[in-house]
Amino acid sequence: MNTTELQSLKARLHGRLILPADPDYDTARRVYNGMIDKRPAAIAQCADTADVVAVLAFARESETLLAVRGGGHHGAGLGVCDDGVVLDLSPMREVRVDDASREVRVAGGATWGEVDRATQPFGLAVPSGIISTTGVAGLTLGGGHGYLTRKYGLTIDNLIGAEVVLADGRVVTASASEHDDLFWALRGGGGNFGVVTSFRFRAQPVGEVYAGPTLWPVERAAEVLRWYDDFMRQAPDDVYGFFAFLNVPPAPFFPAELHGRTMCAVIWCVTGPIAAAERALEPARRLGPPAFTMLGAMPFGALQTMHDALMPPGLQWYWKGDFVRELNEQAIAEHVRYGSALPTALSTMHLYPIDGAANRVDRHATAFSFRDARWSMVMAGIDPDPAKAPQITRWAKDYWSALHPHSMGAAYVNFMMEEGTPRVRATYRDNFDRLAAIKAKYDPANLFRVNQNIEPLTGGSGSRSAAP
Ligand SMILES: Cc1cc2nc3c(=O)[nH]c(=O)nc-3n(C[C@H](O)[C@H](O)[C@H](O)COP(=O)(O)OP(=O)(O)OC[C@H]3O[C@@H](n4cnc5c(N)ncnc54)[C@H](O)[C@@H]3O)c2cc1C
Repeated sequence: MNTTELQSLKARLHGRLILPADPDYDTARRVYNGMIDKRPAAIAQCADTADVVAVLAFARESETLLAVRGGGHHGAGLGVCDDGVVLDLSPMREVRVDDASREVRVAGGATWGEVDRATQPFGLAVPSGIISTTGVAGLTLGGGHGYLTRKYGLTIDNLIGAEVVLADGRVVTASASEHDDLFWALRGGGGNFGVVTSFRFRAQPVGEVYAGPTLWPVERAAEVLRWYDDFMRQAPDDVYGFFAFLNVPPAPFFPAELHGRTMCAVIWCVTGPIAAAERALEPARRLGPPAFTMLGAMPFGALQTMHDALMPPGLQWYWKGDFVRELNEQAIAEHVRYGSALPTALSTMHLYPIDGAANRVDRHATAFSFRDARWSMVMAGIDPDPAKAPQITRWAKDYWSALHPHSMGAAYVNFMMEEGTPRVRATYRDNFDRLAAIKAKYDPANLFRVNQNIEPLTGGSGSRSAAP
């Protein structure tokens, strides 16, 4: 890549091409995880699909490393790279709702907050995650789990189509009736197959939910985990609650005496009539008086923003995860050990339920394979201070090592750092070979490789080692 090539790309774009000498270069190269400090040669802020086509042609012809960025939230910092070009979709954020058909079109650089703002006035929601600041693109392409998973499935189970710019520059539609192999791969296979410029979802009727946290002293964590396991096994799909170890933030709605205390919690989101939701959570009250509970009816969009202020961009993050099917006594003991010893105020462990409707989809129906898991687990070391990076990394790795033997042996691609080809392969189990074949069809030169990479199938084996 030389200056003339960059200048020619700059002239073709409707959006901006930001270069290292530009005053906003440092802002533009930043991603959500403050631990990531990569210096691309250029950042192309794409204004439209034509810009995406132009940037892909540039990367292909100049053989430049390419990183694609949606919301920039991936923990491993996959929305940026050293020396290459970043295709940044953040200017493309339009969300359009057709309330009659419940179809929602979302541009490739939007965040979930923008989707909620557009859908909630119609009493609709697209099942997403548990925070509003994550990008729609990365979350969806990895599968997407959150507050509505037990009721309405993963985010990909609500995806009905996508506009994709392929590695060779063609713009295609992927859906059940067009490029159905690509559509299958996009639903869980990550950013391996093309740049999605627009997603088409079917939204669900979700206005108000009964939601909020219940907190118990960490000394009761083993008892609470056993109860939670049992309760969730029998709970109807309307009931969602993710388990967490956390330090109580010094927010005014928490009693001052709890501020800074390490506790265990379940953060609930119950759909359906409010009176029924109250009754559904009655067993949680019978567990004995919690240290604190703040449950009530609220708009779904408000619940989605509850964690936003606590987790601003720029913090140091190191996380690892695994899919989990059972909580045996040894696993509970290790959870109590590491969960009681959170290394910093913001560090946390979450067990996100992915059963209910998500479990009822066949594991070969989409690329997302772990349809038989009950939880997607993540241990996240988090702190604003870069000097704490080694400490939070060590804790997350040690915690993960203690729990990995009790897991299903593989993780959600959106909760992995750069952990190598065997871990990516494990995520897809017997869907992997089909993914590698589809990769060979749509991206044979592996242009899209700054991701949880699936190498194109070559002559049958399909698994050389990945190196972005
Ligand atoms: C605070 C926080 C909370 C989270 N909570 C949840 C949760 O509740 N549920 C959940 O499922 N996940 C959750 N995640 C994980 C989240 O799904 C991933 O971080 C996801 O990758 C974010 O998507 P993004 O577009 O912001 O990321 P990016 O870093 O921009 O991209 C992630 C990957 O997707 C690719 N990509 C991005 N945009 C496109 C595109 N338009 N076309 C093709 N490829 C693209 C990138 O190349 C990269 O490989 C959370 C993450 C954070 C930091």
